[in-house]
Amino acid sequence: MARTGFYPGSFDPVTYGHLDIIARAARIVDKLILGVGTHHGKQALIDAETRIRLLEEVTKPISEHTGLKIAFATFDGLAVDAARHHHAGLIVRGLRDASDFDYEVQMGQMNGAMAPDIETVFLAASPATRMIASSLVKQIAKMGGDVSLFIPREAQAAVDAALKKPSH
Ligand code: ADP
Repeated sequence: MARTGFYPGSFDPVTYGHLDIIARAARIVDKLILGVGTHHGKQALIDAETRIRLLEEVTKPISEHTGLKIAFATFDGLAVDAARHHHAGLIVRGLRDASDFDYEVQMGQMNGAMAPDIETVFLAASPATRMIASSLVKQIAKMGGDVSLFIPREAQAAVDAALKKPSH
């Protein structure tokens, strides 16, 4: 039976760290829904529609290369509810460091209590992309730094537009 996963996040903006997790999730699931969270209690830099468009653009090579079917959705409630809505039996999350571990495992366990039928799977970040965080990318971009090592060109253009800077 085909396996469907749900990968929730802010993706504000999508980074090479997210793309690493998506590409590796192809070994676990046949279809992956990328869930763009719109209700995180935090103000997003890039609007949800643009975040989805960017995800569509930058994940195309992953689908082509791995055969993973990727779908896109926004959600503003619980990840478990969104996962169930999309008929996903797995939630995929990435782990960068000990603080991710503490937070993610706790959240995974609370989600597991609410939805015992949905398993959360954690993928350890790859060494090359482990340090990347969307929040730091935004800080660096705001201060005029070069974020090309951390996010795809399409995402840089969206960050620049959101910050109203001339594009690279
Ligand atoms: P959130 O706002 O929920 O932290 P993010 O979009 O930043 O959303 O992250 C979504 C998921 O992707 C989280 O599980 C996070 O740990 C993971 N993630 C983010 N950056 C990386 C990275 N560089 N490597 C691996 N996983 C990552």
